[in-house]
Amino acid sequence: MLRGRGTLFAPARAVCNTRERILARTIAPQRTDDTDVVVLKDHEALEGMRRAGGLVAETLAVLHAACLPGTTTAALDRLAHDFIVGRGATPSFLGYPGPTPFPGSVCTSVNETIVHGFPGSRALQPGDIISLDVGAILDGWHGDAAITVPVGPVSPKRARLIADTEGALIAAIAVARAGNRLADVSAAIERYGRRRGYGIVREYTGHGIGREMHEAPSVPNVVTRGAGSGPILRPGMTFTIEPIFTLGGADWVVLSDGWATVTTDGSVAAHCEHTIAITPRGAAEILTQVR
Ligand code: MG
Repeated sequence: MLRGRGTLFAPARAVCNTRERILARTIAPQRTDDTDVVVLKDHEALEGMRRAGGLVAETLAVLHAACLPGTTTAALDRLAHDFIVGRGATPSFLGYPGPTPFPGSVCTSVNETIVHGFPGSRALQPGDIISLDVGAILDGWHGDAAITVPVGPVSPKRARLIADTEGALIAAIAVARAGNRLADVSAAIERYGRRRGYGIVREYTGHGIGREMHEAPSVPNVVTRGAGSGPILRPGMTFTIEPIFTLGGADWVVLSDGWATVTTDGSVAAHCEHTIAITPRGAAEILTQVR
C-alpha cells in the first residue's frame, strides 16, 4: 500500500510516538529533517521482516495464479485473507484507518484504478490488467509488495506498461545502496518512466516500513528536491519502492468510497512494489521474495 497525501495514512508523527517501543529491537534512529525519524533495523529486526516479506511474496504468487477471466476481486481477497491468516499472520490493510476502514485484505486495482481498489463483485475480463497490493504483519513486522498481472491475453501496450513498471522498480533497487541518496532512487524511477513516455503519478509514494506499515521516509517516484539531495541511505534502512506508470496522464481522483484512486483521463495504470533493506554490504536486499 502506498503512502498518499492527506490524512488517509499514518503521519510521520506516529513513528515518533512509537519510537521508544521500536527501539528495543532497533538501532538508534537517524534524524533526516525536522519531522521524520528513520528507524534503522538490526539483524534481528531484518530476520523478522524477511519472514513477513516472504509471506507477502507467497501470497502474491497464489493471487497471481488466480487472476483468470471470471474471477472476482472479492474472490482474490478471500484467497489472500485465508492464506495470510492460515500462516499465523494478519493482513495489514484490513481495517486500515481512512475515510472508512479499508474493507479488504488486498488492494485490487483494475485498469484505470491506480491504487487502493476495493475488492468486490467485479469479475476480471480478458485484456484487463490488475494491480494486487498485499501487506501482512507477522510477529509484529510488516511486509508490503505489489504486482500488476495481465488477465488472459492483453494488448502489447498494456504488456509493455507492466514490464516497464517492473523495469523501473529493478532500476531503482539497483541504486538503493548505502551512500547514495534517497533522491537517487526517485530519479531512477522518474528517468525510466519519462524516457518511455509514461505518466508518472507523483502524489503516491513508497515509504519506510517496519513495526509500522508507514514509517519515514517517503520514497517519491519523481525527484522532489533535486538529484543528490534527500537523506543518505544507510545500512538498516527498510522501505518500499513502488513505481506507478500510466498510459496517459498523471492526474487522478479518489472515488466516492474514499479509497479507490483512478486516472482522470481513464488511462490504464500499472503499479509494482518491493520492500527492501539496505544491507551492511551496501546493496539492497529484497525482503518481499519467496524463500
Ligand atoms: Mg507500500
